[in-house]
Amino acid sequence: MELRGVKTIRNSDQATKYSPTKKQRQLAKDTLRIALDLDGVLADATGSWLRLFKQRFRVPLRRSQINEWDFWKRLGLKQKDFEDIFAEAWQRWQSIRETEGNLPEKVDRLRSLGELDIVTGRSRDTIKYAAKWLSNKRINFGKIVLVGTYAPKAHLDYDVFIDDSPRHANEAAECGKIGLLYNQPWNKNVGEKDNLIRIQNLQDASTILENKLAESGLKG
Ligand SMILES: [Mg+2]
Repeated sequence: MELRGVKTIRNSDQATKYSPTKKQRQLAKDTLRIALDLDGVLADATGSWLRLFKQRFRVPLRRSQINEWDFWKRLGLKQKDFEDIFAEAWQRWQSIRETEGNLPEKVDRLRSLGELDIVTGRSRDTIKYAAKWLSNKRINFGKIVLVGTYAPKAHLDYDVFIDDSPRHANEAAECGKIGLLYNQPWNKNVGEKDNLIRIQNLQDASTILENKLAESGLKG
């Protein structure tokens, strides 16, 4: 399956980075490590982005029209414009809404399954606002792990990646981990495959992982 913006991992010169762990770890509650994305999974920064975009460019754009990851390219936007609006959205962090209700409880349910960190490509100049947002929303987690905005995540030491990015979810699946793709209009064209599973909400993520842990326990 070819996805825009996704490197072909097997042929990549970075292949060693992505190769499956030699002995794939059996999922177990005491070792399960979960990487939870921020933008598009917890925080609806895109909602704020759309409002700012309309104000700045006076072009109406609905969420449902965003049907690909790099949607801004088709709008003729420069990458810098796209990123500047995102930075501005995070500067106004108090206006950023949650993607779904009861996030603290839902994240706690995930945390009951293992260790959970926020793993995000948020820029260094906006991460402080993101931290404030997480605190304000009373969302508990281990730590915030910053990766470069366009850097891969899948090679990091996590078993599960919950992400709205087709690239990150796909790369996790490609290296034998679990990619839970958080449903968003910009990833709706991505198909499921082994270890790449679409979720509608964070309860889905907990249910899937609870089932996998139960299967893993039965096999052990
Ligand atoms: Mg995201």
